[in-house]
Amino acid sequence: MEKWEVLAEELVDKSLEPEGIKDTRILQAISKIPRHLFVPQDLEGYAYNDSPLPIGGGQTISQPFIVARMTELMDLKDGDKVLEIGTGSGYQAAVLHVMGMKVTTIERIEDLAVQARKIFKRLSYDIHSIIDDGREGYLSDAPYNAVIVTAGALEVEGSWLSQVVDGGKIVVPLYIKEGVECLLVRQKRGQTYEDTWYDYCRFVPLLPGVIKKE
Ligand code: SAH
Repeated sequence: MEKWEVLAEELVDKSLEPEGIKDTRILQAISKIPRHLFVPQDLEGYAYNDSPLPIGGGQTISQPFIVARMTELMDLKDGDKVLEIGTGSGYQAAVLHVMGMKVTTIERIEDLAVQARKIFKRLSYDIHSIIDDGREGYLSDAPYNAVIVTAGALEVEGSWLSQVVDGGKIVVPLYIKEGVECLLVRQKRGQTYEDTWYDYCRFVPLLPGVIKKE
């Protein structure tokens, strides 16, 4: 066993399980993913701590607990199709992929998307990475069984709801006040929807437009 594999298992056994994550598919995926590849080299030593880390461009890789928690809230079945808004490091998308989901992920900062694609390729993860403003969703791969938004949103976009199947869930950190979001699960029910609120959390903001490489 490599050292990182021991650390990834410890992250699951000592943090995520005691913190209440129960879905074994999520726990197994996290124990199998080399998270140190998704963080800047100088922070590799912290990769298996249960904490968020900066990944450049003012963005962060989410805390493993939040990744696991949001994944759990989507209520996925094996092989479900998931849309992620906010690829960032690519780690959340990797967790979904290793769990056996079909993943489309959108990132507005080209540099970050390009870096995430390199890691996906290196690990042979088949993940559809799009560079665009995720507020529009991504129609070409729709409909999705679930949508996960990994940046703090001011509102739930109509495009996400229209691109999810009936009964499908959108998990999104919704802005409450400066520096505070609350996890919302919006489940589509025909022409309407049902909202359930969960944990308070902290995310970088969902922003408009695309930032191209210099
Ligand atoms: N899921 C990521 C964490 C992402 S941090 C991970 O596992 O590492 C949030 C990301 O959302 C940032 O990379 C940010 O650039 C991106 N983002 C913000 N607004 C966006 C938008 N409108 N469309 C797509 N991506 C967006």
